[in-house]
Amino acid sequence: MAKLQIRKIGDEVLRKVCRPVEEITPRILTLLDDMTETMRAADGCGLAAPQVGILRRIVVIEVEQGKVIELINPKIIATAGEQEGPEGCLSVPGRQGVVKRPRHVTVRATNRHGEVFEMSGSDLLARAFCHELDHLDGKLYVDRATYMED
Ligand code: ZN
Repeated sequence: MAKLQIRKIGDEVLRKVCRPVEEITPRILTLLDDMTETMRAADGCGLAAPQVGILRRIVVIEVEQGKVIELINPKIIATAGEQEGPEGCLSVPGRQGVVKRPRHVTVRATNRHGEVFEMSGSDLLARAFCHELDHLDGKLYVDRATYMED
């Protein structure tokens, strides 16, 4: 595994729309492993491929330690409720903002074995789903924040 360089706000790669993964190649599997290593080394709870300069629809999330969620071509298929709370991003170091998100989110995605699955999450996991999937469409939480603190 290798640690990758995390792109920071202002880098135009963070503003692009990512392409779907058409085939799960060894390169994609290596990327998933490297993204998890990079996320952990940076002490983050989520990382999207564009944050390491790869314009593919791939996300890793670890809100519960030891339970890495890998999402390939993820889509939000249902949301419910609302929550407002602080959010940060490895691409926006040293800052936090208050963002409104759904309380419950269900995603559909492909796993590393090519199987489609659905997963539901609440609270922090719901927030992570929304935040990381936004990255795949070139959106950053600072675009949505109602309040930013330094
Ligand atoms: Zn982020």
